[in-house]
Amino acid sequence: MSDAPVDLTLLPASARVGADGSLSIGGIDLVGLAGEFGTPLYVYDEGELRARCQEYQRGFRGRVAYASKAFLCTAMARLVEEEGLDLDVATGGELHVALHAGFPPERNVFHGNNKSSDELRTALTAGVGRIVVDSFDELQRLERLAGDGLLATVLVRVTPGVEAHTHEYIETGTEDSKFGFGLQNGDAMRAVRRVVEGGRLRFAGLHCHIGSQVFRLDSFAAAADHMVGLVRAIETDCGVTVDELNLGGGLGVRYVSSDEGPTIAQHVGSVQGVVAKAFAAHGVSSRPTLMLEPGRSIAGPAGLTLYTVGTVKTIPELRTYVAVDGGMSDNLRPVTYGARYESFLPARAAASRSLVATIAGKHCEQGDLLVRDARLPPDVAVGDILATPVTGAYAHSMASNYNKVLRPAVVFVHDGRASLVVRREEPDDLVRLDTP
Ligand code: PLP
Repeated sequence: MSDAPVDLTLLPASARVGADGSLSIGGIDLVGLAGEFGTPLYVYDEGELRARCQEYQRGFRGRVAYASKAFLCTAMARLVEEEGLDLDVATGGELHVALHAGFPPERNVFHGNNKSSDELRTALTAGVGRIVVDSFDELQRLERLAGDGLLATVLVRVTPGVEAHTHEYIETGTEDSKFGFGLQNGDAMRAVRRVVEGGRLRFAGLHCHIGSQVFRLDSFAAAADHMVGLVRAIETDCGVTVDELNLGGGLGVRYVSSDEGPTIAQHVGSVQGVVAKAFAAHGVSSRPTLMLEPGRSIAGPAGLTLYTVGTVKTIPELRTYVAVDGGMSDNLRPVTYGARYESFLPARAAASRSLVATIAGKHCEQGDLLVRDARLPPDVAVGDILATPVTGAYAHSMASNYNKVLRPAVVFVHDGRASLVVRREEPDDLVRLDTP
């Protein structure tokens, strides 16, 4: 890493460094924003969220569902609805937020490897459009619900046996997975037959998701090829057409300057090309509607987190710890996956970052480190506002109250306006659920 100022390509396209060196996003000065709403603070550039939704749809002859696990709140569900995307929910809780936001239930895709009968009943009663069925036990639950008059339209989730070349905790398309029906061992075909021949559920098509933070277009291509092969086998052996082919999400994003990965447009173009070729190669006559399900690549780069520096501790000849007022409770990814981030001081965004420091959280764990070997201006001091870019996905959605730390607020910025979309937790929220 070099002493260079923060790489602006890691920030939303609206990022500007002013004449005084301070950074603004969406026309809003970040230090002023921290003053108004407090820290830690999740900041999203609304224009960037929308632009990323639009980039997925541009030139794509299929449907895109935003994977809400990456980041969900009422305002986000509404934004997704306005942009015309469908919404993937993976639990009754995510579905509840979607319904609360008024998201059209028929545009919800319901996932999960262990959906309960209650969750399924709620989803079907609400009119959820697609249930992605994940196991034989779930099939049985859905068949029982059909007996109560609740007809499910299902996609069968397949594990295509493809390596995604990502962290093992977020690799989901290999045979040894808790998700879905194996392709190689014949379970996927058995599940499809049971749906088609059982006659109690409506078969719409197939689904797969190979993993998350995937940079390798060849991994998506391999999965697409396997899935089209299965489409062909189903049409031949079961005598039904496959109307929908959902290839999941997973496109990676650049977290640090040295990361290199395909753009959304490159990913979409590649998937479309690969699928078209596979249809021809496998001799499939029908053309299922293609679907994608991105989360991280829509929300991740549109967000950043602001903290206040509270302590600077230098251990001579060893390390400088810069401690901030958040940590693993607002961003679990460094601890869980060893995820890397960059950091900068929005007040001095153009300054050289010659200090190598470790940005620590405030939790009672030595492992609560947000950024190891972070680059910062050498004059970083207590009271400075510090930012970590690309925290829009799997940060707010994985946040906890560990050490009874209050979860941060979420602000959307756009065209010089800042809107509070999730309020900061207050101390009373910590005892709200306790019985007296
Ligand atoms: N679809 C499914 C079924 C998933 O499990 C996930 C995330 O793990 C996604 C979509 C979204 O993935 P990403 O955020 O990497 O695009």
